Amino acid sequence: MALSATNSPARCLVCRACGQEYPLIAQHACFECFGPLEVGYDQAALNKVTREQIEAGPQNIWRYAPLLPAGQDPASRVTLDPGLTPLIRADRLAAELGMTGTLWVKDDSANPTHSFKDRVVSVALTAAKELGFTRFACASTGNLANSVAAHAARAGVPSIVFIPSDLEQGKIITTAVYGGELVAIEGSYDDVNRLCGELTETDAFEDTAFVNVNVRPYYAEGSKTLGYEVAEQLGWRLPAQVVAPMASGELLTKIDKAFEELVEIGLVAESSWKVFGAQSKGCDPIATALRDGKDEITPVKPTGIAKSLNIGDPAAGPFALESVRRTGGWMDSVTDDEIRDGIELLARTTGVFAETAGGVTVAVLKKLVESGRLDPTAETVVYNTGEGLKTLDAVADRVGPTHRVKPSLRAAREAGLL
Ligand SMILES: *Cc1c(COP(=O)(O)O)cnc(C)c1O
Ligand SMILES: [Zn+2]
Repeated sequence: MALSATNSPARCLVCRACGQEYPLIAQHACFECFGPLEVGYDQAALNKVTREQIEAGPQNIWRYAPLLPAGQDPASRVTLDPGLTPLIRADRLAAELGMTGTLWVKDDSANPTHSFKDRVVSVALTAAKELGFTRFACASTGNLANSVAAHAARAGVPSIVFIPSDLEQGKIITTAVYGGELVAIEGSYDDVNRLCGELTETDAFEDTAFVNVNVRPYYAEGSKTLGYEVAEQLGWRLPAQVVAPMASGELLTKIDKAFEELVEIGLVAESSWKVFGAQSKGCDPIATALRDGKDEITPVKPTGIAKSLNIGDPAAGPFALESVRRTGGWMDSVTDDEIRDGIELLARTTGVFAETAGGVTVAVLKKLVESGRLDPTAETVVYNTGEGLKTLDAVADRVGPTHRVKPSLRAAREAGLL
């Protein structure tokens, strides 16, 4: 079955490797060359979209529906209405990092299930419903599991979510509470993902949409809203530099694609931007390929505390490399202790408590400034993609009460409080 394309600007699926086109079906790999498929648009339809049309839309990602493959009809949406998260001016963080250009934190922990994954899931599941699927599923490093289970609960559709069994409690409980099936696999995320790929081929899973497997092309498009939104929040213009975390590398690639689209359809003036990618040392196959000047990614076995980014064989890695090289950006990776420092630095200077992925991104921003790769005088947006409450363990040993005092003035004085 193909997407019911009423009003959709999407025209086809197109192979990112060989350019072969397909109808808008549930398929993520090219039948000819096994390359990844992405959504192709009718450029004339995109060209018609105006700022006014978007500004008159709802206060969530669906204001960008004219630029998305599914969900043009509000009644067809499977959604928690994510998006329009705060873009926070981070002067104190900038000062601490020695940056004189304006620094913004795009805080996507403010989404309904507290990560940017609500954007991709809303788009993927809306497409899945339009494609006729009756069960929702995913392979997840944590946040995707939260989001799929919550969306399924809201829509009243059964869900089955697959996670590595060693995930943080804060990710397991926040998925299980929505009441769907939750399958903990004794293996890495890459093992979970491979199994899900195999499950989609079986009869028992014929009616099941895996948001990041068989409907992945639609899922990936949801990430574009993180580019659109920043441009709109800046008054319809592009920032000079963005720093984004990378797991599969898709998010970074799609922010870049969103900026390109906005210029192409005339919603922002043409200006140059640079894209920077952040990984942890425990799982940095994309940053390593960039540093070594390679086009191919050598898969790794992930370790370390940034579990939401622990994809050892990143599907969009080559495209992330392409975005960063074309725009003149860079990538770097940081240790677990630097990640913890990054979480504390962001919290202390902006009042935003990020999960480990946000710690990775802020710590990499710091490194990029120190190494001179990122221009400290240019306007910069750093993406926080997840919520600190889900990964409390990361900083639990480092922070706590600064004083312990009996409830009397004398004790307060003795403790140095007055
Ligand atoms: C999934 C995830 C990412 C990265 O997503 P990719 O598109 O796979 O690169 C970043 N941050 C958080 C918190 C995530 O959950
Ligand atoms: Zn192909």
